[in-house]
Amino acid sequence: MVLDGPRRPLRLADLPVPEPAAGESLIRVHACGVCRTDLHLVDGEVVASKLPVVPGHQIVGTVEGSGERVGVPWLGWTCGGCRYCRTGRENLCDRARFTGCDRDGGFAEYAVADSRFCFPIPDDYSDLQAAPLLCAGLIGYRALRMTDDAERLGLYGFGAAAHIVCQVARHQGRRLFAFTRAGDEHGQRFARELGAEWAGASGAGPPEELDAAIVFAPVGALVPTALRAVAKGGAVVCAGIHMSDIPSFPYADLWGERSIRSVANLTRRDGEEFLALAPQVPVRTTVVPYALERAGAALEDLRSGRLQGAAVIAVAAAPS
Ligand SMILES: [Zn+2]
Ligand SMILES: [Zn+2]
Repeated sequence: MVLDGPRRPLRLADLPVPEPAAGESLIRVHACGVCRTDLHLVDGEVVASKLPVVPGHQIVGTVEGSGERVGVPWLGWTCGGCRYCRTGRENLCDRARFTGCDRDGGFAEYAVADSRFCFPIPDDYSDLQAAPLLCAGLIGYRALRMTDDAERLGLYGFGAAAHIVCQVARHQGRRLFAFTRAGDEHGQRFARELGAEWAGASGAGPPEELDAAIVFAPVGALVPTALRAVAKGGAVVCAGIHMSDIPSFPYADLWGERSIRSVANLTRRDGEEFLALAPQVPVRTTVVPYALERAGAALEDLRSGRLQGAAVIAVAAAPS
């Protein structure tokens, strides 16, 4: 499935099997998770440097030749030499290339990836269930780490990332408060099933102060809302790659050593840590499979908020 440019529908195309260069692997794609970033790409809110491009950056597949099952995440390549790369912050690399954005991704039968940026997939997971771990899980985990040891954690937007973070946070003994779109009873029930002790509309205040909040929804107005919900010293972590503008708010809401920060991309270390942790929790992903040619429908379902858990493109997935 190919994106020709912003605001164009994904198009089914016949492409040649890609040729791996030195240091790259040719991967037979089994499954590829769908991420909100894919929707931002289609909507032109995130700009692909390669067009046309095959989107998809949560690839699970097997390496042709070795048969090893690997995952390919959003971080597809880094320079290794810039100030960020040299200080353990390759997620901020000035020249980073991202899968399904700057290089072709996994909404396809085959993909090529830099072997140094692929992860082994734990045996505990089927192809479909593993796919959402690779971005929703990884970046959710990085965002969770940015909340330090916050006990009372708010999650704004209960989609693919939150449904994984919720399980990890409960495993760590934190208390969870989930915020969804107003009237989203299904989403709120889903959050409670996964361990949230309270779930309600994002406009509603939580029953008590929070120690930190992670904003997954791409809605800037939620930032001051979340800021008003956190206690002194609390952090609001914005985990999405794009968000609508943040409305102004009184300095008093930030006062008391509250902070706002973003989380960008991932490092390979995040991936190694999270994929070791996930089977211990154990994280169970709720996935909604779509055939490859229905990738566009998956994106529309993501946009509408109809989805519960994570959409995954099943290309040649072994049954769950
Ligand atoms: Zn993503
Ligand atoms: Zn770099």
